[in-house]
Amino acid sequence: MSIKNNIEKFTQTLPKGCRLIAVSKTQPVEKILEAYEAGQRLFGENKIQELTAKYESLPNDIEWHMIGHVQSNKVKYMAPFVHLIHSVDSLKLLAEIDRQAKKVNRTISCLLQIHIATEETKFGFSESEVLETLQSDQFKSLANVRILGLMGMATLTDDQAQIRKEFKSLKTLFEKIKSLRIPNVAMQELSMGMSSDYKIAIEEGSTFIRVGTAIFGERNYP
Ligand SMILES: *Cc1c(COP(=O)(O)O)cnc(C)c1O
Repeated sequence: MSIKNNIEKFTQTLPKGCRLIAVSKTQPVEKILEAYEAGQRLFGENKIQELTAKYESLPNDIEWHMIGHVQSNKVKYMAPFVHLIHSVDSLKLLAEIDRQAKKVNRTISCLLQIHIATEETKFGFSESEVLETLQSDQFKSLANVRILGLMGMATLTDDQAQIRKEFKSLKTLFEKIKSLRIPNVAMQELSMGMSSDYKIAIEEGSTFIRVGTAIFGERNYP
């Protein structure tokens, strides 16, 4: 299957309310353009340097999504153009995004990454940490960021029931936060699902699936 066919297949089968982010990390500009020509406009990257380089060399109507772990000292490079940061995992990082957003006169939309997997290595807030953060005085003082929802990555496993359980727990937390009606916090977007588990994620209420391999094929890491 070509990139074009893959994009078309996703576009035709995605339910209303769920959008596809084409994860283009490690992919060259030519491959991204192939997806673009098939109509894809939302792309995701996990490294700020790569994100910025691709933003500069690709069409202006692409929405760039940052999906990987963010180092505070690099936020300034993406602040002028990033559409949505999915991977905010600390109040300290959120404060830096706010600071850089102010400098370029923007309000930057963010998702909070929640640790739902059993693996230790995945980043993110625990449930109690996220509730504490959203109710803190420091959070209330941040005027140039807007929280639009949550992001999570399930455990890398073949156990479908385990994956489903993790996505359900994220959705439950999403509904709980929504019911708290915290100022400047809108629970609209739920970013969950990758090539191996997007079908389950969609069934469990995902609004953004982040898909790389199933569009571009296997990545060749340098
Ligand atoms: C790489 C990546 C994806 C896409 O992974 P695939 O398995 O290639 O679909 C999704 N989300 C995040 C955070 C990633 O880093």
